Amino acid sequence: MAKRDYYEVLGVSRNASVEEIKKAYRKLARKFHPDANPDDPNAEGKFKEISEAYVVLSDPEKRAGYDRFGHAGSDGQGFGGFGDFNGFGDMGGLGDIFEMFFGGGGRRRAGPERGADIRSDLEITLKEAAFGLEREIKVPRTEECGTCGGSGAAAGSKPVTCSVCKGAGQVQYAQNTPFGRIVQSRTCDRCRGAGQMIEKPCPTCRGTGQIRKTRSIKIKVPPGVDNGSRLRVAGEGETGTRGGPRGDLYVYIHVKPHRVFKREGDDLVCEMPVSFVQATLGDEVEVPTLEGLAKLKIPEGTQSGTIFRMKGKGIPHVSGYNRGDQLVVIKVVTPSKLSEKQKELLKEFARMGGENTLNAGSAGDKSFFAKVKDAFIG
Ligand SMILES: [Zn+2]
Ligand SMILES: [Zn+2]
Repeated sequence: MAKRDYYEVLGVSRNASVEEIKKAYRKLARKFHPDANPDDPNAEGKFKEISEAYVVLSDPEKRAGYDRFGHAGSDGQGFGGFGDFNGFGDMGGLGDIFEMFFGGGGRRRAGPERGADIRSDLEITLKEAAFGLEREIKVPRTEECGTCGGSGAAAGSKPVTCSVCKGAGQVQYAQNTPFGRIVQSRTCDRCRGAGQMIEKPCPTCRGTGQIRKTRSIKIKVPPGVDNGSRLRVAGEGETGTRGGPRGDLYVYIHVKPHRVFKREGDDLVCEMPVSFVQATLGDEVEVPTLEGLAKLKIPEGTQSGTIFRMKGKGIPHVSGYNRGDQLVVIKVVTPSKLSEKQKELLKEFARMGGENTLNAGSAGDKSFFAKVKDAFIG
């Protein structure tokens, strides 16, 4: 069964604030909690679905990962760790899941948390890949709210100590299990482990201390990058929570295919068409390179398919040392539109070489036909 979009599941917009998500979740969770719907066999699945959507969308790190990768964020790209869901059934039944959300998730840590990493994709040309570039890219991310300086409290007010946990960020709770009563501590639900509460939330960020913004970030792509290269821009990811450091920005490089050059490692390969006369008599031809036209000498009697190596005309190695070569594959073009006079001259040319042009089978390299014959005889 295809997974539904988490925003759709909770019935909130993609820009919904954490508060809106929480509100939507609480409403739906009450409605579909299996205890409240003993006769509805679908309630449990529905409840799991909305719980899962809530776990992701209420966590800035997971939400950012989901916004970028969708449900596929779970296959280990390292952007948020959706893998948690695989163990949904091991968390001890629905009662605990319900408890976890309404009583404050046990997995939240109260200390500073590093912000999530962000992925960005950048398409560049082969020439840019070879010589590097600087570019500003637009990155949507969470930032500290400028109005309240990240505290989440409205102007003139400041956060107060949480009355539930008395500032500890943790509360003790007891649970009845088949093995008896177990007392555990978990993150305070009221203050989400911060130990402080915001009584008058900042109107700009609605008390979260964070806002979503699109930033222009200047990045420097070094010479020699290849398709699939990943650049790490340290400290330009999502903002951390409770004073934690920012995550990193990872820029994935996509190199557009080039019309003339094919890349093989640090070498470039191109085909160079030459006329039958140039190949026969030899010539100096102009070959396109990444830095404009360059001269290449074709010796007399060059065969189609011969490869010439132009030293140091390839891609610089990404380490900054050495540079690849350009390989030029000669393609002899057989003339297709000849005048009567040209045809006459070619026939004359063939006669001088001892060929009988009326019998195509006997033309050309005799040893080649001998080999063909051998192949059939075995
Ligand atoms: Zn604010
Ligand atoms: Zn508290």
